Amino acid sequence: MRTQISIDTVRGYFVRQIEETSGQDLLACNQCGKCSAGCPIVAEMDILPSQAVRMAQLGMEDVLESTTIWICASCLTCVARCPKGVDLPRLMEALRQVALRKGVAKLDLNDLPPELVKELPQLAIIGGFRKYMR
Ligand code: SF4
Ligand code: SF4
Repeated sequence: MRTQISIDTVRGYFVRQIEETSGQDLLACNQCGKCSAGCPIVAEMDILPSQAVRMAQLGMEDVLESTTIWICASCLTCVARCPKGVDLPRLMEALRQVALRKGVAKLDLNDLPPELVKELPQLAIIGGFRKYMR
């Protein structure tokens, strides 16, 4: 899906949904890039954290298809670096929630090998369920 950017997308339902779910003001971000420069796992992402914010600002729902929103580890490094007070982990969580509500399935219990489930700490399993399942 490729979102056509217009005044309707910038002021549209998707932007309001993300702002309400995350409690963040998307337009506070001035695209300085400090979050992306400091993210410890940016090399694993398909778009930069600051690009995810930009896409959300513009109402580009394509951001829901990016791996970045699932890879973000909520480590808070970007929160400490952001000069505008944007809480990016909350924003990523909101994007994941919206993606999950749209039916994106990131984890199927049946795909987990039983021997792995036996070895994983329970907290890791529960954390994974909360992050990747609706
Ligand atoms: S550090 Fe903050 S203001 Fe700068 S690009 Fe990231 S979210 Fe936007
Ligand atoms: S919270 Fe997410 S986006 Fe921010 S620095 Fe950590 S992994 Fe990167």
